Amino acid sequence: MGDDQILCSLCRQPAVWRDRETGSHLCSLHLKESVENRVAEMICTAGPLPDRVGVAFSGGKDSTALLAAMTATQDHTGIRLIALTVDEGIGGYREETIRHAAQVCSILGVEHRIISFPDLFGYSLDEILQQQESRACTVCGILRRRALEILAEEEGIRLLATGHNQDDHAQTALMNAFSADLKKVCAGTGPSLRYARRIKPFARVSEREVTLYAILAGLFTRLPECPYAGGALRNEVRSLLNRFEQQFPGSMRNAAACEAEIRSRLREKSSGKGLVPCRICGWPGTGEICQVCTLLGAGWARSGGDRPRDR
Ligand code: SF4
Repeated sequence: MGDDQILCSLCRQPAVWRDRETGSHLCSLHLKESVENRVAEMICTAGPLPDRVGVAFSGGKDSTALLAAMTATQDHTGIRLIALTVDEGIGGYREETIRHAAQVCSILGVEHRIISFPDLFGYSLDEILQQQESRACTVCGILRRRALEILAEEEGIRLLATGHNQDDHAQTALMNAFSADLKKVCAGTGPSLRYARRIKPFARVSEREVTLYAILAGLFTRLPECPYAGGALRNEVRSLLNRFEQQFPGSMRNAAACEAEIRSRLREKSSGKGLVPCRICGWPGTGEICQVCTLLGAGWARSGGDRPRDR
């Protein structure tokens, strides 16, 4: 081992990670342990844990790392996992990520369920977007949220983990501030519209750590990018925050913590407000017509939207 080899601050093995805030270094084993400890802590402090927890699993890098970390912490958390994948129907992109998702589940020994937009809504995302491609991610997000809720209900899942990491939260905080759109700031903080509660076990894990974790777990694969992924503003905000983090270590963590605090206060304020069933599909929400029926019209509810209600 050469003299200039940087070593883990804990065990003196070669380091793979440097914490910018503390200046400490970690080897692959201790970096994995550090990520898994934060994941286990987020899960264990999320309130009463059911036996079985769903993981929203797109097959991309973040959800792959999340599934691997949650599998690695199962001895500690005592939960069984089921990976829930939504196939939106995006030609030339989703086929490969779904194949990868199935492979990862088989390697990790995790139960896997896939639900598709055509099965649920009668159309693929590609078909739905023919008239409104510029709103791709908004439309996709609304429908995917519902698809996951339906899948969770079908599987009796009361707790659903998503792969949002610390950088995602910091970016959202800044984008909300830039847009001054209170609706976006409050999104998801109202009374629970969902059958399953959500947790974000990576909320205190940075994007770089997530990527490294996926690589160290041997599960990182380069996958095609979604053809609708424009996200110009988010990309700009990402670069801005990364530059800030370089110059002022801790900025990312502080912005993410600020976003979490605002959400938690808004959630407290709105708790206790009732839900009303959508007049078209019956799904509980805050308005007369839910977002899915506003998007797709009444036809989808007749074709398959009331599927979980039939059980
Ligand atoms: Fe959906 Fe947008 Fe993500 Fe593509 S980039 S999968 S359209 S949210």
